[in-house]
Formats: sequence, C-alpha cells, structure tokens
Amino acid sequence: MMEISSNKNINNIYENQSFLDCDKYSNFLFNNGKSRPLMLSCETINVCNNKCIICTNNVENYNKHIMSMNLFEKILGDYSDLGGGELSLTPRTGEILLDSFLIDRIKLINKYKLITGVSFTTNATLAMKYNDDVLDFIVNSLEVMHISVYGLNEKEHSLLTSRNTYLDMIEAIKKIIKLSNEKKRLFLGFRSLEYYDDFDISSWMKNNLGVELPYGKTHNYVKWPAHYKKNVRLPMGGKWLTERNNTSVCFMPLTTPIIHSDGSLYWCPCGAGFGDQQHYLGNLKHDSLTRLYNSNKIKKLWDEREDIPNVCKRCAYHCSIDEIGKCLFIFDNPKHFVVA
Ligand code: SF4
Ligand code: SF4
Repeated sequence: MMEISSNKNINNIYENQSFLDCDKYSNFLFNNGKSRPLMLSCETINVCNNKCIICTNNVENYNKHIMSMNLFEKILGDYSDLGGGELSLTPRTGEILLDSFLIDRIKLINKYKLITGVSFTTNATLAMKYNDDVLDFIVNSLEVMHISVYGLNEKEHSLLTSRNTYLDMIEAIKKIIKLSNEKKRLFLGFRSLEYYDDFDISSWMKNNLGVELPYGKTHNYVKWPAHYKKNVRLPMGGKWLTERNNTSVCFMPLTTPIIHSDGSLYWCPCGAGFGDQQHYLGNLKHDSLTRLYNSNKIKKLWDEREDIPNVCKRCAYHCSIDEIGKCLFIFDNPKHFVVA
C-alpha cells in the first residue's frame, strides 16, 4: 500500500466521519487516491453441513451458490488493485471446508503478492474428509484458522447444530491441531447454550484436545428476522441478545465488507443477514471493487450527518465509531477484530 500524506486529491469516502483520523491512518484507508477497507471477506460457498438453531441458514430460504473460479480470480485482481491486504474466506452463512475449489483458491491467492494473509472460520467437522497432506496444506497456508466449537457435550452440540457429530467435531479439531505447524494460528470460538466459565472451557480443552488454545466464548446470539417470524426459542440456557437503540455509525464495516458467493458486495455481513438493501453496494460480476467501494452510496453510509441504516439501529453487534479509539489494533491487525 502506498503512503499518502494529504487527503486533498483522494476520493475520501470517510471525509464526513470525524472520528476517523484519515491523515494518521491514510496508508491503511487509501490506495492510489481511492478509499479502501482494512480487509475484505469473500464467501465462496453458502452451503453448510450444520443446521444451527442460531443461524439464518436454519430459518431462511436463499439460493445456494459456489463461486466460480473465474469470479474468484477477478475478485483477487480487484482487491490487489485496491492495495490488497488480509483476505477472509469465512462465508456469511456456509462452511468453507465444503468448497470443492478450496485448494485451487488457496494456490491462486498465493500468486497475488499484495494479498498478505488468508484466514477463515470453520466448524471443523469436515476436516476429516481431507487426507493429511491436503489438510496440512490448508491449515498451514492460513494466518489464522478460527474454529467454532458447537457445544461442550453431545446433547448441547446436537441441540445447537441439529447434527449428531459431536465426536466427529472433536476428532476433526484434534487432526487440525496435530497438523498445524504453529498452534498460535488456531483460535477456538465456543458456541454453547449453557454458560461456561474459563475453568470449564480450559478443562474441556485439556480433556478433549490435550492442549489449551486461545479462545472466545458466548451463549448469547443475534436474533435474525426469520427467528422473530418463526418465534424461535433457544433451549437450555441459550439467550438471544437484546436489540439496541443505536444512532451512531458502526465502525465494524472497516473490516467486514463481504462479497457473497453470487458476487454481491455488502458493507457488512450482518446487514446482509437482515436482507438490508441499504448495505448492498453492487455486484463484482459486472463492476469493480474500486468503483463500488468509492461510490456515493458508501460515502453516505460513513457520513455521520446521515441517518444510519435501519438494521444498524437495532443491531446487537454495533460498535460505535466514537469508541474506535479503544480498538486501534484493527488498523494493524484487522483479522483479529473479525474473529475476536
Ligand atoms: S456452522 Fe455456522 S454457517 Fe453453518 S449452520 Fe452453524 S452457524 Fe450457520
Ligand atoms: S450495526 Fe450491525 S449491521 Fe450495522 S454495520 Fe454494525 S455490525 Fe453491521
């Protein structure tokens, strides 16, 4: 990325956002006179092996896609034109290890030198279908692999995922750990229905995996529109997060613009989950990332004088832009914000 000392000749979509110090962070926010995000997510598949009660996958009807290699290559080129950086392959809704082109995609990414690191979140279970050599290549090509651990026992796993794959999940995680050259690339995200404290989690890791890894945990979840419509209740101690009453711009989209498997670009995956057209920026099949990320529409989304999108008003994931000073690590290390 090139360093820019003045924003005068730049198409600055952040210019009406006073909490973002564009001069100080210009080498992260701009490239060749154009605005850019801190990182990008590209969903290559929107099909999943699980059917989680907390997921839109369980309650929404949508068209299933695997992104073509041609479109994927175009996106890598577009991202490089915008300066490149970290790339996440975490689907908005789906499981990356189901993507039959995954190996080819990783090999292709390696040819794009401005793409500096790849990460993804997986539920891990399908790692068992890969032989050791292939899984070794996948695991050790990543900067970070975030593994979502659904449930700390068989009953909780099956209530969460509608699958009886608890023991398969543990075996798959163990296989990934065994093959990983650097354990620090692995990060566990515990998704449970009951509340567990740090001692419970640490004991679970020691008893089931034989090692302790960095982790996050939650038993509180975002309730999507379809959950409201179908009045879905969470079993055991699982809780829906309460809706908020937000008024400020959210800074999450600095790190989370996402391209869906059909090529559509959204400002934020949560907005996409709520089916919000205010977050929709266009389609990469027939437009460039540079143009879509530098449009008047996105400039309005960052403009503090504008009303925020309807879904952002009630979103439980909202991170107020006036609090960005507490998370300045996102400029250097956006992927850790995305998986934290
Ligand atoms: S594993 Fe993730 S994407 Fe798949 S159903 Fe569960 S929450 Fe949704
Ligand atoms: S408030 Fe929620 S929907 Fe809006 S940008 Fe932030 S995370 Fe996305």
